[in-house]
Amino acid sequence: MIIKPKGCYDLLKEDARIYKHIEDVVDAYAAVYDYKFIRTPLFENAELFKRGVGESSDIVQKETYDFTDRSNRVLTLRPEGTAGVVRSFIENKLYADPSGINKLYYIGTMYRYERPGLGRNREFTQFGLEALGSDDPLIDAEIISFSVNVLRELGLDVTVHINNLGGKEDRENYKKALKEYLMPHINDLCEDCQKRIEINPLRILDCKVDADSDILKNAPDILKYQSEESEKRFKKVLEYLDYLDVDYEIDNTLVRGLDYYDYMVYELKLDDSLALGGGGRYNHLVSELDGPEVPCVGFACGIERIINCLKEKGLQDEYVDVYILAVNEEEKMKANILMQDLRLNGITCETDYLNKGLKAQFKDADRHNAKQLIILNSEMLQKGMINVKDNITKEETTVAEDEIIDHMLSLL
Ligand code: AMP
Repeated sequence: MIIKPKGCYDLLKEDARIYKHIEDVVDAYAAVYDYKFIRTPLFENAELFKRGVGESSDIVQKETYDFTDRSNRVLTLRPEGTAGVVRSFIENKLYADPSGINKLYYIGTMYRYERPGLGRNREFTQFGLEALGSDDPLIDAEIISFSVNVLRELGLDVTVHINNLGGKEDRENYKKALKEYLMPHINDLCEDCQKRIEINPLRILDCKVDADSDILKNAPDILKYQSEESEKRFKKVLEYLDYLDVDYEIDNTLVRGLDYYDYMVYELKLDDSLALGGGGRYNHLVSELDGPEVPCVGFACGIERIINCLKEKGLQDEYVDVYILAVNEEEKMKANILMQDLRLNGITCETDYLNKGLKAQFKDADRHNAKQLIILNSEMLQKGMINVKDNITKEETTVAEDEIIDHMLSLL
């Protein structure tokens, strides 16, 4: 038997049902927030992620799936969505849109060579939003509130953990101070951090190995290294969030795992769980990838982690509106017609496809958690009548055949 690769999974049963529901909610929210769907390739030139996500990030250093194709092109399975969207934005000159802003969203699989565990897969799915073209804190707040509201709609009341990384100059000043502070302790940090201090000391704050060390806890506070302009724009984002009733906590150690962020960064958390999603502003990524200067902000959430949280909370049972019981050929023909009429009226219905007896069909209806039963019977059909039974109260009624659809619509 051939089994699936490590860190991958088949989306089945309950998980598949929740997955589709999440997709539906994301699509519905994207429509009202006016974000347009975009799909980019599952693999890109490896250079895109090296330059986009950043050479110093864990993702590029040790998590990408790189391969050469039959023509020796070096390609990478996408580890995240933003770099591909930005590449497409530049390549297709979307920045020339007369509105000056592109609001885009995606849902798709990502690939990272991580150690598999609960909420950590090698193939996983993210939905994400990217707003390209505006530097207004109003859209930072829109991105954050979109992500919070989608999770609320799904039944998860997350808290926003938010930080301000500042502009390029603020970050350079902070990195310098951080490096000076860390240098005397360098031998006490993990091997990766000893490399990070030269490439990008900010990454050290995001280190999973050294996360609890006192050295990191006492590190200089990034919020104290912000220019007036950076502080002002961060306060504005928070003020907008206050008015939107979004719960947030300022976390001055949050840097995120990707190198392209500046100014506001955030993560969504439920108690002490792994982050369900996160994002931030990236005002220089487009120009760093050879496009014009375009300020952007975005986020991505992991669908598998959301599914795990929803399952932990307990789910509503799945049900069908109507189960039609039919035994002989005349009843089955009627069931055939009725099911189409009900379904085209938006009513979910099921029947027996295995030629079971009446008793077994009642059991099957219960297995489907049917709310209403239509019990077809040849003798009744000849009189133009149909039996309907409420499968919860067990109340039975007889309805004229030509009124059955309206009757079912009135019940459901
Ligand atoms: P990131 O792109 O690293 O900012 O991650 C955004 C979100 O994607 C995280 O908060 C997770 O929900 C999800 N995610 C990231 N990596 C994985 C993974 N290996 N397995 C499952 N979900 C992931």
